[in-house]
Amino acid sequence: MDLSTLRSQFPALAQSNDGYPLCYLDTAATSQKPQQVIDAMNHYYQFDNANVHRAAHQLSARATTQYEAVRDKLCQLICAERREEIIFTHGTTESINIVANGLTSQLRQGELILIDSAAHHANIVPWQELAQRTGAIVKPIPLTGDCRLDITAFDALLTERPAIVALSHVSNVLGTVNPVAELVARAKQVGAITLVDGAQAIAHMDVDVQAIGCDFYVFSGHKMYGPTGIGVLYGRFDPLDKLTPLMTGGEMIKTVSFSGTVFNQLPNRLEAGTPPIAEVIGLGAAIDFLNALPKTPVREAEQALLVYLQDSLQDLGDIALYGAHSDNLGAVAFNLAGEHHQDVGILLDQQGIAVRCGHHCAMPLMQILQLNGCCRASIGVYTDKADIDNFITAMKSVKELLL
Ligand code: PMP
Repeated sequence: MDLSTLRSQFPALAQSNDGYPLCYLDTAATSQKPQQVIDAMNHYYQFDNANVHRAAHQLSARATTQYEAVRDKLCQLICAERREEIIFTHGTTESINIVANGLTSQLRQGELILIDSAAHHANIVPWQELAQRTGAIVKPIPLTGDCRLDITAFDALLTERPAIVALSHVSNVLGTVNPVAELVARAKQVGAITLVDGAQAIAHMDVDVQAIGCDFYVFSGHKMYGPTGIGVLYGRFDPLDKLTPLMTGGEMIKTVSFSGTVFNQLPNRLEAGTPPIAEVIGLGAAIDFLNALPKTPVREAEQALLVYLQDSLQDLGDIALYGAHSDNLGAVAFNLAGEHHQDVGILLDQQGIAVRCGHHCAMPLMQILQLNGCCRASIGVYTDKADIDNFITAMKSVKELLL
């Protein structure tokens, strides 16, 4: 496969910053977008712009056809059984909030919610809020010394028969991968409702919700080469249908009168108001882009590059790597000995290198690692060896400057 052709599909990567070619190592925050995603959204606004599901005119019919076709594409992408099991949201955060809010009436005082210690705040705070509303208790699943989820501790927590188990598929900070199918199977044995946050997994691996066996799987379009403002909530039909809607209003109703309202069926029931139509269409183009890639070589190249990135950082010396394993996906978390992560990030930016620095919306994980933050370099299908080499060269100069 010719990686340069692939890379040239991403117009943003062609630019330079202060004379340095852009070296974008922040794909875990948001991926760059291929031209076909940009074109699909432009085309919709130029020719098909209309609200979906409503009007009796051709523009609306075209918009609706394109919008609903993306539901089918998503259904195929993650092996959902029914198209009604795919709900469009504005992102992973909203998807988790819909689930956590929607479960309020199903949870009792004192019931247990297990969450991943390495989780993103989006998979922590909605559960804390749910616990506050219901009197349920949130407990984190501990990590092992090498930053993997501690399966023995998880098994011990399962004896307390949690009502809900919320896991990350891939950590947004460390890139560690949880064996979610195995964890979900154990959680199901004790009758827990399970949610998997796939925000960092969906662009890097095959996701099969049947094989995982979870009740809910959530992700964002913007981390899989699609636009911002569009997310996905997959739910198995029955648990999804039992959720109380977070948002009410137009689109999600069957009938409304002043004596009462009857809600619509799935998926509309959980999609109140005008949806992000252009973004859904852009996400459809991103799925087409991903589906057209030669999957195995692209995945192998990405994995080899991640290990090369981990090894190159290690070889640099004076670097602390966090939870780095060769089977991680997408991201490497690190600090330069004793130096503030923000200083490293700024000095890298001055050389055209884009990395993320801070707590990465995972403050509890930072507390476990006893850090006030770290740097994260993350990759995507367009990242090449030259990106990593440029980054390492820049890191050498940062090291010389700071140490
Ligand atoms: N979970 C994980 C693992 C993430 O990486 C992110 C985004 N950083 C989110 C949830 C939240 O996604 P969004 O901001 O798109 O809602």
